[in-house]
Parts: sequence; structure tokens; C-alpha cells
Amino acid sequence: DNPVQRKPAWIRVKAPVSQEYHETRELMRGLKLNTVCEEAACPNIGECWKHRHATFMILGSVCTRGCAFCNVGTGRPDLLDPHEPEKVAEAVGQLKLTHVVITSVDRDDLDDGGAEHFARTIGAIRSSAPGTTIEILTPDFMRKPGAIETVAKARPDVFNHNLETVPRLYPTIRPGARYFTSLHLLATVKEIDPSLFTKSGIMVGLGETKEEVAQVMDDLRAADVDFLTIGQYLQPTPKHVAVDRFVTPEEFEGYARLARAKGFLMVSASPLTRSSYHAGSDFARLREA
Ligand code: SF4
Ligand code: SF4
Repeated sequence: DNPVQRKPAWIRVKAPVSQEYHETRELMRGLKLNTVCEEAACPNIGECWKHRHATFMILGSVCTRGCAFCNVGTGRPDLLDPHEPEKVAEAVGQLKLTHVVITSVDRDDLDDGGAEHFARTIGAIRSSAPGTTIEILTPDFMRKPGAIETVAKARPDVFNHNLETVPRLYPTIRPGARYFTSLHLLATVKEIDPSLFTKSGIMVGLGETKEEVAQVMDDLRAADVDFLTIGQYLQPTPKHVAVDRFVTPEEFEGYARLARAKGFLMVSASPLTRSSYHAGSDFARLREA
């Protein structure tokens, strides 16, 4: 029993009990699809699935990396399901999603890192559900030439890639990744197609300072990134890196104000913010504005 890990009152989540929750679960099982909502043990699953908002995880459920904060399994990756793009599109249709978020494990074992599979998934959703806006949350495609171009040219509405934490903490928190590779990815997407919205996010409570968070915001704005999410890191299991501290709701409000002042078009910063939390409703509001 580690008192540091005891959650404060502002991290409260409702148990997933709704009918919609069970229907979403059944549908995912039936089509053999993975969601990050389940794999990452996301605390918002009850609320999101009740509102039929889910984040699909393509390219299998086993990752070739092992980030210290992440609940996704690491090891020998699954064989690619060539029909996954169509199955995701079918689920999007059945769930009548207005906005869908597609993410994946890292597939350093594949020649293109899974870029073509992302592009095919975007294409399948576009043809079967043309009214649905598509947000993708991709790996860094490190050492995969042409991968960013392949995905950007499939024209998702929002191209998200998370920095996850401040650069000083990369060696312990995100050891397989490089801060500037991730920043460069975001800048490259905007260069390829300035009409795409770009988005990134970090977790706080891992030991970062406020100055470091402000620097990350500046770096993202320099890469022309449009949207920013900031949420509290929660330890998925005792084997994962411990929470350094719980950032207070007031501090999150301070981060949100600072980010808006720096010019982000859309900012979500709160204890339970996740990169896909309320992504659809926030994006719809932006498009109406
Ligand atoms: Fe799923 Fe994202 Fe909602 Fe979490 S916040 S339950 S990952 S859609
Ligand atoms: Fe988890 Fe992504 Fe890291 Fe893989 S690369 S361990 S899925 S955060």
C-alpha cells in the first residue's frame, strides 16, 4: 500500500454499467477489434462507451516497444489482419460514430511501421461512413522512410501524435522514442498538408516542472501544432512507473490558460483528459465556430 499512489478526490470515475457499454463491448468482441479504452485501462471507459465514443487500436494488441507508463503488452507482435480496415469501418457504421479515433501499437517490425494499414483504414471509413470525421493517433514511424507521407496523404481530419512527456524524462518514460523525432513528425505532417489539423499531448505528474511543460508548448507551437491535451498520469499496475504527484485541478486550469495564450486552437487540460477524451465533441465545436 503506497500512500503516494492513493488517488485524490478529483480522480473519480463511474463504473462502466450502461447498456451502451455492454453493446460496444459485444460489438468489439464480435468483430475481434481492439480498443485502447480497454488495453490502456482508461478511467473514462464508462463515460465514453456510454456515449458511443471509442478509440480503436489497429495493427494488433502487442507492441514492439515497452513504454514505462503504458499498459499495452510488449513482445512478439501479432500477424496483421488484412481485413481489419474494413472491420473498423463496419464498427464505425454500426456504432454510428460522428467522430472516430484510430490508434495503434508500434510496429517497428514492419517495413512501413504500419503506415499503409493506417491509410487503408482511413480509406475504408471514408467510403463507408463519409460523414464521420477521422482522427488518427500514430506511432513515431522512426526509421520508416515515407511512412508519414503515406498516412498524411490519406487525409485524416486530425493527425495526432503524442509527445507523452517532457524531453528530460524520455530515457526513463519513453525509452524507445526520441523527443525531436516526434516533434519533427508533427512539423512534417503540416508541411505535407497544411489543411490537416495536428494534435499532441502529454501526461503530467511524472516529475516534470512547469517550466518544462511551457517549453513543450513552445516547441509544439513552433511545429505549428493546433490542438493540445494534458492529463494526469495514472499508474495502470504496480509494475508501471509510479505517479510522482497528482497535479491539482487549479494547476491544470493554469496549463490550459497558458496553452491558449500560446495560440493552440483547442486545449483540453484536466486530471482525466486523455488524448481521445471528448475528441469528437471538441472537434465538432471547433468546426462550427
Ligand atoms: Fe477510450 Fe479515449 Fe474515452 Fe479513454 S478517453 S475511454 S481511450 S475514447
Ligand atoms: Fe504503449 Fe505506444 Fe509505448 Fe507501445 S509505443 S508501449 S503502445 S505507449
